[in-house]
Amino acid sequence: SGRWARAMGILREFEEKCAAPIGKLRQVADAMTVEMHAGLASEGGSKLKMIITFVDTLPTGDEKGLFYALDLGGTNFRVLRVHLGGKEGHVGKQEFTEVSIPPRLMTGTSDELFDYIATELAKFVEAEGEDFHVSVGRQRELGFTFSFPVKQTSISSGTVVKWTKGFSIDDAVGEDVVAELTKAMERKGLDMRVAALVNDTIGTLAGGRYYDNDVTIAVILGTGTNAAYIERAHAIPKWHGLLPKSGEMVINMEWGNFRSSHLPITEYDQALDVESLNPGEQIFEKMISGMYLGDIVRRVLHRMAEEAAFFGDTVPPNLKVPFILRTPDVSAMHHDTSPDLRVVGSKLKDIFGISNTSLKIRKVVVKLCDIVATRGARLAAAGILGIIKKQGRDTIRDGEKQRTVIAMDGGLFEHYTKFSQCMEITLKELLGEGVAGTIVIEHANDGSGIGAALLAASHSQYL
Ligand code: ADP
Ligand code: MG
Repeated sequence: SGRWARAMGILREFEEKCAAPIGKLRQVADAMTVEMHAGLASEGGSKLKMIITFVDTLPTGDEKGLFYALDLGGTNFRVLRVHLGGKEGHVGKQEFTEVSIPPRLMTGTSDELFDYIATELAKFVEAEGEDFHVSVGRQRELGFTFSFPVKQTSISSGTVVKWTKGFSIDDAVGEDVVAELTKAMERKGLDMRVAALVNDTIGTLAGGRYYDNDVTIAVILGTGTNAAYIERAHAIPKWHGLLPKSGEMVINMEWGNFRSSHLPITEYDQALDVESLNPGEQIFEKMISGMYLGDIVRRVLHRMAEEAAFFGDTVPPNLKVPFILRTPDVSAMHHDTSPDLRVVGSKLKDIFGISNTSLKIRKVVVKLCDIVATRGARLAAAGILGIIKKQGRDTIRDGEKQRTVIAMDGGLFEHYTKFSQCMEITLKELLGEGVAGTIVIEHANDGSGIGAALLAASHSQYL
């Protein structure tokens, strides 16, 4: 019928606009490399902040003692305590707890958010068992993973540049997050010192490096997306401080804010951006990460319902509700292997109240998930190629096979198998046969928490 043809027209047009063929991906990778240079050259020189992290040495394995880590960066926050045993003992006993953040605190005041965090942290410390001991007279020390853009002022201080991923706490912008947390801990009577302020990419890099010396890049694909890598200190023109002994500096790219005319942006992406909490910002993130993929799919379905009566004569009202379709739902539908696409059928019913969908309709929904996930995965691969190129690791020099390991983490990477597989295959395709064999993607399973604890240890006041 005419309706079906119209729906297929919308689908086909969307697919064309989302196309990310290899040539386009190379342009995206090159644009990423160019922006990396610009962001390193001067403050504000690029959409990429290329933040200097003050991490100039990564864990060696000598780190020893009991350390805490706190990870705030999305819908949950995690608290961890770990016993580091040095070269022989390695990472010993660890315990953690995960607490969800009440949504009202994500857009409230700084004090409310940090009081809540300090309270939960205090409870966790309270429950410290026999196996975990701080030496008498010693203050507990914490690695604080805060995964929002921060202008770092030292290894243990930094001011909030802006919020992303659904957070918007105006009175915290421009404030030192470590001071905010420390004040809240004092209000709750918790005696603890923040020894290192990092974000999830830095934590993942440090955690990954602890286990594998060839880790030089970390990428997060979770609610949001970001990357960090090891740069040569003298290749950072905007750095006017002393050159670190190691000659290296970890850079937090804040790559979620990357944008380029080469990105395959559709009208759905534009609408999502305009209606978001941070219009005009985090464009790369909005095409790739877990917070947004589901809503892109919803927007196309909504258009098909409105303009092609795809789900019947009336538009199911839930199709209009922003973020009602979550990326884990998209992932579940995309991975549905049942012959009648049962999972797709029940998701459409449970989320949108659309019952009795035909197999034909369900197949279209899967196709949509595939288009959105494939585009995101391929763009993520292009971003990684940009970093590998910046490091000069995209070619084999003098036949020497230098290994490059990328530590990856985040719920999207971990759980959305088709996404991760597509990303990995695309990266290999971009690198070509020879070099592809020297680049390894490793899942750094909660490397971030351990990494923050390791960095707290290497920046302990008792060293
Ligand atoms: P955060 O990024 O908030 O620190 P995570 O790394 O755990 O936390 O990532 C959580 C995000 O991962 C969720 O917001 C969601 O977008 C995505 N995610 C979680 N589970 C799945 C899944 N099964 N399929 C696809 N995406 C998922
Ligand atoms: Mg996280």
